[in-house]
Amino acid sequence: MLNYQFTIEQSEFKREVESFLDASLPAEFADKVKKGAPITKKELAAWTRVLNQKGWSAPNWPVEYGGTGWRLVQRHIFDRCCRAAHAPPLSGFGFNMVGPAIIKYGSEEQKKEFLPKIQNADLWFCQGYSEPQAGSDLAGVATSARREGDEYIVNGSKIWTSDAENADWIFCLVRTNSDVQKQKGISFLLIDMKSPGITVKPLIAFNGKRLWNQVFFEDVRVATSQRLGEEDHGWTVAKSLLGDERLMVSRVAENRRIFSNLLEVMTSQADRGQLLPESFRREISELELRIEALEMTSLRILGKADEGEQIGAEPSMLKLKGSELVQSQDEMLFKLIDYLGIPMDTSNSDRQSAGPGLYEYIGSGRYHHRGYTIAGGSSEVQHNIIARQVLGL
Ligand SMILES: Cc1cc2nc3c(=O)[nH]c(=O)nc-3n(C[C@H](O)[C@H](O)[C@H](O)COP(=O)(O)OP(=O)(O)OC[C@H]3O[C@@H](n4cnc5c(N)ncnc54)[C@H](O)[C@@H]3O)c2cc1C
Repeated sequence: MLNYQFTIEQSEFKREVESFLDASLPAEFADKVKKGAPITKKELAAWTRVLNQKGWSAPNWPVEYGGTGWRLVQRHIFDRCCRAAHAPPLSGFGFNMVGPAIIKYGSEEQKKEFLPKIQNADLWFCQGYSEPQAGSDLAGVATSARREGDEYIVNGSKIWTSDAENADWIFCLVRTNSDVQKQKGISFLLIDMKSPGITVKPLIAFNGKRLWNQVFFEDVRVATSQRLGEEDHGWTVAKSLLGDERLMVSRVAENRRIFSNLLEVMTSQADRGQLLPESFRREISELELRIEALEMTSLRILGKADEGEQIGAEPSMLKLKGSELVQSQDEMLFKLIDYLGIPMDTSNSDRQSAGPGLYEYIGSGRYHHRGYTIAGGSSEVQHNIIARQVLGL
């Protein structure tokens, strides 16, 4: 099936989301997102609370925990409308990662303590998985958690920790047993970032921005009641973090949003009577076709999952294609503004942008998107999964 038609109910739902966004999304937030300008924690918290009041901040959580109970295709529509309106994306660490894990593995106290606060942006998590010697091979984590009565003593460090400078808590994979197969000696801890012994050091990316941090743990005391799931069974919790979220990785909505910027640059030239060369127009059409193909494929797979069908390597395909497409669009934007002679990233310099604010953050955006084919499982790792599971290699 090449085409996917929304049902009448799905189209009505889309209109409902669009009119909510029309009425509720502050124009200054949308303007920043459109340009790629940084959104502050305060602004993101404000937008999260607007969504929370509507009951839409955690579409992926079960209704009993304040979620929406939407099916995957509905969530896709919601995401697409939000991105099209340039709404700030909410923090994935709380909503998509640790929130669902707390729902599945947390004690009643943990659920009561964390879930409402995540939903209302009163508490922010960051993710402590990667270490200097453990990235793609995550089961090799070495940060140790030694048991001492009803506490763990944590030592080691986590690296590439996005948003650690803003986070109140960190969810961590730590080693609680070194004498067993490596996946079997890992535990999942929730750690207060204010605990004595934690130091956060910034890591600056090549665009000069603080994209990540390294978080050091020196004899940090963590109550065993802050463990999620059984001791030594953290790998199971970590794997479950992916769950249905595995399927929401296509970046279709984000690709459409970036494409709308591309079209705007293109049409602003046409308005000035300057038609772009044929080769540019062909390349832009090809990008649009790739977005269409990605969305059709994504919707087919989401529809399949909604019907309870088995999902295999499809998420790897979506992740691969969606992240590569963002990068191809960035390249096209670069080529376009280069051809048009428009200064970019004027926000970082004294120069004035020649065009609308759209160009101000294009360079930063491109550097940031470089991480899309690395974070959450690199492209090489996705190729391996497809080779094994689909091609049987
Ligand atoms: C923007 C961004 C944000 C991030 N945020 C976080 C965060 O908040 N928290 C966190 O814990 N981590 C975060 N990470 C880290 C991310 O999860 C790791 O970078 C990723 O898992 C890869 O690990 P690594 O960097 O150690 O590279 P490595 O695993 O050392 O890989 C190095 C290279 O080898 C390739 N490679 C590795 N294994 C194989 C294989 N089996 N076959 C073929 N090729 C292979 C990789 O594709 C890569 O090109 C972030 C990364 C980025 C880019």
